[in-house]
Amino acid sequence: MTDSPALRKVERGKLCAGCGLCAGISDDAIAMEVEAPGYARPEQVAKISDRVERAIEQACPGLEVYSWDRMTEATASDVSWGPYIECLTGHATEDETRHSGSSGGMISALAMHALETGAAQQVLHIEGDPTKPTGNRTAISRTSQEVLARAGSRYAPSSPLENVEAMLDDGTPTVFIGKPCDVAALRSLALLDERIDRVFPLKLSFFCGGVPSHAGADRIVETMGLDPQRLSQFRYRGNGWPGLTHAEDTDGRTAEMSYEESWGRYLSSQVQFRCKICPDPVGGVADIACADAWYGGESGYPQFDEADGRSLVMVRTESGRRFLDRARRTSIVATERLDIDEVNLMQPAQARRKRRIAARMAAWRVAGKPVPKMRGLHVAKATRKERPHLLLKEFLGTLRRVFQGRI
Ligand SMILES: Cc1cc2nc3c(=O)[nH]c(=O)nc-3n(C[C@H](O)[C@H](O)[C@H](O)COP(=O)(O)OP(=O)(O)OC[C@H]3O[C@@H](n4cnc5c(N)ncnc54)[C@H](O)[C@@H]3O)c2cc1C
Ligand code: SF4
Ligand code: SF4
Repeated sequence: MTDSPALRKVERGKLCAGCGLCAGISDDAIAMEVEAPGYARPEQVAKISDRVERAIEQACPGLEVYSWDRMTEATASDVSWGPYIECLTGHATEDETRHSGSSGGMISALAMHALETGAAQQVLHIEGDPTKPTGNRTAISRTSQEVLARAGSRYAPSSPLENVEAMLDDGTPTVFIGKPCDVAALRSLALLDERIDRVFPLKLSFFCGGVPSHAGADRIVETMGLDPQRLSQFRYRGNGWPGLTHAEDTDGRTAEMSYEESWGRYLSSQVQFRCKICPDPVGGVADIACADAWYGGESGYPQFDEADGRSLVMVRTESGRRFLDRARRTSIVATERLDIDEVNLMQPAQARRKRRIAARMAAWRVAGKPVPKMRGLHVAKATRKERPHLLLKEFLGTLRRVFQGRI
């Protein structure tokens, strides 16, 4: 049963990002389920109250995306890279954290610092699901060892907000680590619930190329010559930068694949539709957002050769800056200033997507589908930076895929 008008609209527009917020505030009326080909989607199992319906309408990032223009502490803003106070590169200074992390281990180091200094008592984030090692499950870490064990990017659906109401009731100060849309959902909910900023004093995010379905990871495993149903461990990357995709099965057989191949050939083509029109894939409303500080290649595209991990670090709020300052003073992380224009060389695909989402959304609207509200996310400015014939090509390409039933 889905009688929630908000959820129906999300479903009609394929606008769900899988954050789990609707389930987390629904008094068990909504559960997160896996839907073919392997995305996290809400399933309404009981009637929801008017209060919950209104909260979903306002906080679901499939319906409205939290505005960058509300981030009033930022001293600068970039049409692709969002509002910021500082633009840096950095890494964890502890070798193990830097090596285990996805890029420079910054997110894990900051979360560990919060636990060690008492700024928070726990960390809400993601770990591999032991029952399906290519998948994710929501995790709470209370020690630095637990945070470290859960470092690394996992290119599969995640719903870190699926228990948010219970965490707000519990009240334990918690570092939140999630996708940009998860943080946007949390910020929107904070407009309705004043407990959010007290319970989640530090919201960390990362740049996000999109969430692939489980089918993407299954194809990687099959290509490696292993059976996706018989895995005991799966790591998308990390243990180096970018690190290898690593699988192990229940017989102890192991296989590896480069990050470039696993993301480029198998995962990126499985990304859910909502991500293709994402106006904030850069954690624009997090306190601090990290990304890969790829070294630009001569072609203008990033190089993926193995190197010591290096994160791009966008500090977006005063509380994020104060927290980072304390972490820098204790030398748990090291940072260097970066000119914002350098980010264009590190993340060309992100900038390109932002320039083209308006064309994709126009095609989606022509097909009679709804799109999220995106005020204050500088979509029009980004669109004006794109060449008109490329916008037309994107529009027609999206329309063709809609009518061929490929979206
Ligand atoms: C789906 C996805 C897409 C990404 N796309 C890009 C991109 O286009 N460009 C780019 O520069 N970087 C991208 N990243 C982020 C990048 O890989 C690094 O995570 C980022 O640089 C932070 O590195 P770190 O070493 O500081 O993080 P780490 O210290 O490794 O910490 C990573 C944290 O993220 C959490 N996490 C891992 N996977 C997920 C998930 N699926 N959902 C929620 N939380 C998760 C972990 O629990 C951990 O706490 C993406 C990450 C993910 C998960
Ligand atoms: S985006 Fe989040 S809040 Fe919206 S429907 Fe999907 S899981 Fe629920
Ligand atoms: S691309 Fe955007 S919508 Fe998709 S998972 Fe990332 S932040 Fe969420």
